[in-house]
Amino acid sequence: MVEIRETRTKTITETITVDTKCDICDKSIQESLYETLEMEISIKEGVNYGSDGAHGTETEVDLCSDCFKNKLLVWLKEEHNVNPRVREYDY
Ligand SMILES: [Zn+2]
Repeated sequence: MVEIRETRTKTITETITVDTKCDICDKSIQESLYETLEMEISIKEGVNYGSDGAHGTETEVDLCSDCFKNKLLVWLKEEHNVNPRVREYDY
């Protein structure tokens, strides 16, 4: 009996957690199972073509909570008199 084997290429996409570091102090930005830390500082600039798509750039920075609170927020308040909105969440 002749065995015929077929060879296929299988592409596997694996999601891994990459250690993100703060762009100011170089500290690791980590989130534990019970502690949430979500921060996104970015700007999207471009053109939207409706259902035909869009094109543009997204500029972003990674900041740890210490640099966000003690550097960025302090700078915004002291230099530009900005008071951030603070929203509570509970679910
Ligand atoms: Zn930092």
